[in-house]
Parts: sequence; structure tokens; C-alpha cells
Amino acid sequence: MNRSDELFIESKKYVPGGVHSPVRSFKGLHTTPRFISRASGAYIWDEEGKDYIDFCMSFGPLILGHRHPQVESAIKNALGRGWTYGACEAYSLKLAKFIVDKIPFIEQIRFVNSGTEAVMTAVRLTRGITGKEKIIKFNGCYHGHLDSMLIKAGSGLAGTAEASSEGVPAQTAANTLICELGNLKEVRACFEQHPGEIAGIFLEPLPANNGLLPQDQEFLQGLRDLCDEYQALLIFDEVISGFRMSFGGMAERTGISPDLVTYGKIIGGGMPVGAVAGPTQWMEYLAPVGPVYQAGTLSANPLAMEAGLATMEQLNPNTYDELEKNTQAISAIFTEWMQAHGFEDYQIISQGSLFWAAPTKEKIKDLTQIPLNLNERFYALFETLLNKGIYLAPNAYEVGFVSTAHNAPVQEELRRRLWN
Ligand SMILES: *Cc1c(COP(=O)(O)O)cnc(C)c1O
Repeated sequence: MNRSDELFIESKKYVPGGVHSPVRSFKGLHTTPRFISRASGAYIWDEEGKDYIDFCMSFGPLILGHRHPQVESAIKNALGRGWTYGACEAYSLKLAKFIVDKIPFIEQIRFVNSGTEAVMTAVRLTRGITGKEKIIKFNGCYHGHLDSMLIKAGSGLAGTAEASSEGVPAQTAANTLICELGNLKEVRACFEQHPGEIAGIFLEPLPANNGLLPQDQEFLQGLRDLCDEYQALLIFDEVISGFRMSFGGMAERTGISPDLVTYGKIIGGGMPVGAVAGPTQWMEYLAPVGPVYQAGTLSANPLAMEAGLATMEQLNPNTYDELEKNTQAISAIFTEWMQAHGFEDYQIISQGSLFWAAPTKEKIKDLTQIPLNLNERFYALFETLLNKGIYLAPNAYEVGFVSTAHNAPVQEELRRRLWN
């Protein structure tokens, strides 16, 4: 038994399933989770001292890699001054200005502590603005673990039998209408069947929580038009795609302006931050100006704000070119190796700095085209790579995250580890 096995057994005594977030549990993968002790750049080390090229990157926040020097020193500087006040401070103003000045369709932003909290706030805000209760979400999109979004959600649930969760009241579920990605007819039918009741459409404009399911521009534009036609709001959940697909996320890439946008992951540079943003006319529905309540004891704490700002400051158009080049090189390396090693039926689907090892050659556009119970098959690939010192997110439906640290030398090392 290795050190990770021992720690996992002990953890399971003290913590449900030994983990604080289910996708860390390696469920369905017949191997126990590695306990990570430290990290640097594109690498993580487990408790045994074995290193891995990391393609999980904490599930997305670390777009500059682990312990980027500028981010590390920003956190250390902030730490020396105090780490939470529950009072006004200038750190969050700096980050708010930095983001708002760069993204044309947002005028105000409110920081929270996670992506889930951001979406939860956006749901309440959407209902508060429109005075309507129902929301539309898409099958397979994940928006965090709030009740109203735990209905046909993503990867953490896809591997298991239940499509949803116990504990979600039926009335709450009834207010979330589910449509299939790419199907505008179905969305229109929803609006027609529930006249005057739909507050807004929530989606990941680049669905990346249940495999990677890039959508057509016409579909996204069609949703924008339907929202305008039926006086509903369009909410882009850019918790993964924000600051990753471009600084302004998919909204900037597609030129489609949502009414509200939610951010998370990269926005905190690896510290817990989420945000809701939009035009002032919508954002000022939030307390203390407006009637929609929202609050947070630790919201916008200085450490997280400094880590976020230091990360944002490194992101420019060149960064996105670099990230895309890294991703294409890595995808090519994986593809070549998989072809020669019994994974011929896999394809790598990539967009920007995300990639997904999809165990099918078919073109996949929505969730119904993804085979169920992929984890059984994914296990062979995952474990082979793990033994070679290559760490993918431990779930077949989870994407790979590429950072600026996954540069040419790391790509060479990846090639060496794969073919060794
Ligand atoms: C990760 C994620 C969330 C939830 O964010 P947490 O910080 O894990 O609460 C919400 N929406 C999307 C699109 C995500 O990828």
C-alpha cells in the first residue's frame, strides 16, 4: 500500500467518501486518488514524490500553471497586510476596474466565493429583474451545485447512475426546463408552452462539463434572438470559458452579448472567487441598491483579489495564441500515441486551451450523442497515463486544461513519457 492509499483510507473515516468534492474520488476508475503534496508550473507531485504532467490544473483556474511567480508574489504581498476585513478595501476595486474596462458588455461586477455562488446569484437576479420564475438550462451543462441547476447536470454526475440529486425539491426542479443543446426549436417550444413564465436561459456558451461540445454560432445567436423576442434574459455561464477562450470569454469570441455573465475559476487565479457581471441597469437590482439580496462574509477578500488580478495582468492576445498552440501540439502528441497504442477509437476534440479525449470518432454536438458509462472504458487510458506520470482529470466526461506552463519543453517531456 502506498502513502496515497493510506491517506485515502484514513480520509474516508473523517470525510464522506474521503473527498471534499466528488470528482476527486476517482469513482469508477478502480484506482485510489493520488494525494498531491506540491506543484510547480505544469507539474504536480504526489505524497510518494512521483511527479505528473498535470492536465487537470485544479479543473481550470490555473491558466498560468501552478505557482506562477507573479501570482505567488502578489499573494505573499497581500498576506503581509491582512487577509480579510469584511469592510471596503481597494483590492477588489482594482480587479473590478481591470475586468470591466476590458469587457465591453459589462459595466458592473459583484464578487462572490465560487462559481456556484455566482450562478446562484445570477438565477435570483434574473428572477428578480423579470418577475418570472422558470429558467431554461441545457442537458449536460453544469452550473454548480445549487438546487435549481442540479437537473441534468455535468461530469460529476454523468459517471454515476442518477441524472440529478436527492434533496432537490420537486417544486424547484419544476421551475428548471431542460432543452437539448443545439435545438432551437425545442427552446422556442418551451417559450410557447410557458407564456410569460420564463425568466431566462442559462448556458455554458462552450459546454465543457460533459465532454467538450462546441456549439454553432447560429445556435447561440438564435438563443439571443429568442430571449429578445420573449423578454427573457440570456445568461452565459463563463466559469470555465471566461478569460480562457479570450479575455472576454465566449461572449467576445462570438460577438454575442449576454444580459448577465457568471465567472469563476480563472478569475481568482486559483483562490476562491466567482463573479456576476452585466450592465448597470441589471446589476443595480442587487442589494444594497436594489431589491435582490446577496451577501458574503469573505467575498472579495484581498488574497483572492490579488491572485486574480496578478493572473489577469498576464493575459493578452499573445497569451491566447500561445495557449492555443500548446493545446494543438499536445492534442497532436496524444493523438499520435493513441493511434499506435490501442486507443484508435478515441479522438481529441479541442477548442482554445481545452481538449477532450472522446472515445468515439463520431461528431458530437449534444449530450445524447455521448455514450453512457464511459468511465469503464476511460479507465484503461487514465491508468496507463497515470503510470506514465501524466495526470488527466479523473473522469471520462471531464476536459483537459492547458496552461501557459505547458510549453515546448513540457510537450517534449509528454512525448518522452508517452512513448517510454
Ligand atoms: C465549475 C463550474 C461551476 C461551479 O463553480 P464552483 O467554483 O465549482 O462552484 C459553474 N459553472 C461552470 C460552467 C463550471 O464549469
